[in-house]
Amino acid sequence: KANRLFHPEDTIVEAAGIKIGGNEKIVIIGGPCSVEGEDQICRIAQEVKDAGGTMLRGGAYKPRTSPYAFQGLESEGIRAMAEARKRTGLPIVSELMDAEHIDEFVENVDIIQIGARNMQNFSLLKAVGKTKKPILLKRGLANTIEEWIMSAEYIMAGGNENVILCERGIRTFEKYTRNTLDLSVVPIIKEKTHLPIIIDPSHATGNWKLIESMSLAAIAAGADGLIIEVHDNPECAWSDGAQSLKPEKFANVIKKGRAIAQVI
Ligand code: PEP
Ligand code: MN
Repeated sequence: KANRLFHPEDTIVEAAGIKIGGNEKIVIIGGPCSVEGEDQICRIAQEVKDAGGTMLRGGAYKPRTSPYAFQGLESEGIRAMAEARKRTGLPIVSELMDAEHIDEFVENVDIIQIGARNMQNFSLLKAVGKTKKPILLKRGLANTIEEWIMSAEYIMAGGNENVILCERGIRTFEKYTRNTLDLSVVPIIKEKTHLPIIIDPSHATGNWKLIESMSLAAIAAGADGLIIEVHDNPECAWSDGAQSLKPEKFANVIKKGRAIAQVI
């Protein structure tokens, strides 16, 4: 179903009135790795909006490497995200880790994120395939492009064709960056599938200093959008502060990125 051969035109996924894919304006999703409370998410949502961002991200259920690390505010985080949307009008994206919470997500979020660690959680893919919600499917840390497309097929086979792919870096021998950003996937995914693809330079690099250049490169490569971690006090962020941009820097990326999008 994802194959370009049987579906030559680009799929445009619509989430709360925002169109992603085709020749639509690139979508720029910003927000903290983790929702830390209602005040924090509402404040950052306003900053994301003022910077020119089009959607808000924020994790409420967090897939942390250590069980002793902050696991997310869970339902309280989803509720705070919904409040941030109400105040700013920005549609919201959050990660679903377990099919147990699917009704909460269908009711409250505009795009359901399937994280890298769950890319091959086939029962979760089947569960979101039964909904009509747009799904942001991240590439697994060590998965091939073929495997990633097959995971998209799992969602589409269930009847949900609203799939957006997201490259977030893969594991290589290189330790200087958190992961290695594989930008070649943009033209490859566009050739092999009709689905939109966005880039997450935050998890790909792990370093805020690399976000701007990788974002601009992603747009130049033809990506349909970006998802960037933004925090107004990165040093104190509850997760992923080192790869989070301050709102002013995020605004700069958007300004330069939109200029590049106009010429390609
Ligand atoms: C995230 O978006 O905060 C996240 C955990 O992403 P990934 O699944 O790509 O690691
Ligand atoms: Mn994160």
